[in-house]
This record gives sequence, C-alpha cells and structure tokens, in this order.
Amino acid sequence: MSASTPAADQPTVDQVDATNGKRVLLAKPRGYCAGVDRAVVTVEKALETYGPPVYVRKEIVHNRHVVDSLRERGAIFVDEADEVPEGALVVFSAHGVSPAVHEQASERNLRTIDATCPLVTKVHQEAKRFAREDYDILLIGHEGHEEVEGTAGEAPEHIQLVDGPEDVDKVSVRDPSKVIWLSQTTLSVDETMDRVDQLRERFPALQSPPSDDICYATQNRQVAVKAMAAECDLVLVVGSQNSSNSKRLVEVALQAGSKASHLIDFAKEIDEEWLTDVVTVGVTSGASVPDILVMDVLAWLAERGWAEVQEVTTANEKIAFALPRELRRDLPKTGS
Ligand code: SF4
Repeated sequence: MSASTPAADQPTVDQVDATNGKRVLLAKPRGYCAGVDRAVVTVEKALETYGPPVYVRKEIVHNRHVVDSLRERGAIFVDEADEVPEGALVVFSAHGVSPAVHEQASERNLRTIDATCPLVTKVHQEAKRFAREDYDILLIGHEGHEEVEGTAGEAPEHIQLVDGPEDVDKVSVRDPSKVIWLSQTTLSVDETMDRVDQLRERFPALQSPPSDDICYATQNRQVAVKAMAAECDLVLVVGSQNSSNSKRLVEVALQAGSKASHLIDFAKEIDEEWLTDVVTVGVTSGASVPDILVMDVLAWLAERGWAEVQEVTTANEKIAFALPRELRRDLPKTGS
C-alpha cells in the first residue's frame, strides 16, 4: 500500500500558511467499479437501442443521482417483475436476482437483460455448487439487501444468513464437518473476518470460499480510505444511504482513525459545522458514485479554503466487464 502524491502537486510553505494547512486527501481508487459501470451503460444502451420505456427491476445501482438521471431518460424503476407490462423489456440490476425472479419474468413473457455484476454471479455459482454438494452454507451479509436475497434464492434450503454477531449462535447445521461460509460482495473486510472467526469457534471445520467473495472494488476502496483516515479530522464519503459499500467506507474511516465521517449524496448536504476545527478532510466515494459528484464536493470545499488536494493512491484499477450478451447481440456492429 502506498500513498502517492506527485511532487509537482505539493503546496509551497507560503500556500500552506495562507490556508492554515487546510488540505484535502482524495482517495484513489474511489467511485465507479466495473460492475456498476457495466450496469449503467447497459441501461443507457438499452434506451438508445430499443427506445424508452426500459423497465429496470430495483435501482440499477444504489445511487440517487444515477437513478434519477436514467429515469429522466426514460427508464422506469419497479420493485418487482410483476409490475412490468407483459412482453416489455426489463433490466435486472447489478445486485443480482434469484431464480424465482427469472421464472416470474418468463411467465410474463418479459424480454430480459441481466446486468448482474459478474462478481455477484460468481457468488451465485458458488452457492449452487455447494448446495449441490449438500453443504450447509452460512451467508454473511445484510438482511434485506437485494444481493443477499438473490444469492440466498439460489439455494434457500441450504443457506442461512449471518448478519450481526448475534446471528452466529442462532445458526444450526446438519453436519459440522460440511459447512462453508460465503459473503455479500460489499462488506467490510475486517468485520467479515471477525464474523468468520466467531463462526469458526462454533464450527472448527468451517470451510472458506474458493476465492474472495468481497469484490476487488469494495476491498480497494477500503484500503484507500484506511491509508488516509488517520491523518483526517473528517472523512466525507460520497454515496447513498442504501449503498452497502459506501456505508462501510464511513465505518472503515472511523475505525482507521478519522475523527469524524459522514455519508452524503451531494455536496449540498455537507453541514458547515462539520468543518469546525478541521484541518484535513478526506474525500472518497462508493462504488456506485460517478466522479462528477466528488468533483462537486471538492469545489464546495475549495470555496471554503480547502483548495489543496492531494490524491492518496493505493491501487490502479484496470478491470472492465463486457456488456450483457443479450444486449451485445442487438448493438450496432460499430457500437461499443
Ligand atoms: S461493488 Fe463489486 S460486486 Fe458490486 S458491482 Fe461493483 S465490482 Fe461488482
């Protein structure tokens, strides 16, 4: 892990004196992950290719700005597939859906485009495989979150949800030598490992997933915020209240030493009082947040004296996912 601050961007002593040392540490990576980018582009391309309306089951990604922008362009967000008119086009969100939702869509003759993030699909595949092998699966995740509902729906008879520490004593397994844990992709890495340790005390033979379920984007954003939090009096996390990975960034910032941290959708939600006695402000954003919202926050801070921005880089992400096959088929050959 390294904090990269190009020498050319360093403030002079005079500049620092003029601002009383006020500075912003800007986390990198932050914002859009490959799965969110793919899901948003999927709805945009569907609107362009088929014309509005395009129905979307649930919020395509958990971000108010993104959802409102797509709604303005003709996307209609619904809670369930049975709200979509027979035969219409529906996009499934990045968080994934259970087989029951696919069946419901097929009963209504809906045309579907599945924008489930491939890293969520990977967890679905693990759930199916270990259910087939007759394991008891302990799924660490947040009750009611769409991703958890989708994953649990793959093998409801084999999966039990472990949300908080209190759930560890509640689970019961048929054969303690055949138990595996899986997790939601957007959890706090540290808390998840605490939960695994707790589970392993009850079930010493508990097996781990073949590879990390918490995705690269969630992990990278947490590592970046950890690298700067101890130097921050305040960390602002741009993200929506229903965004799991964004909420985890607030918790990680506080655990890693920031004196305060708040989750905001937009710059206008920043309370000036939060800046009392603050010198260093950390800024980051969740995986469903377009960078324009972060730039708005930087502009808001600059107007109030925090114009000096130093980027803290802990990883450079280059991952991209191909658009869903059912959409690619219909795109013009010259299209991306
Ligand atoms: S946060 Fe991770 S799992 Fe969720 S969409 Fe992004 S890459 Fe996929």
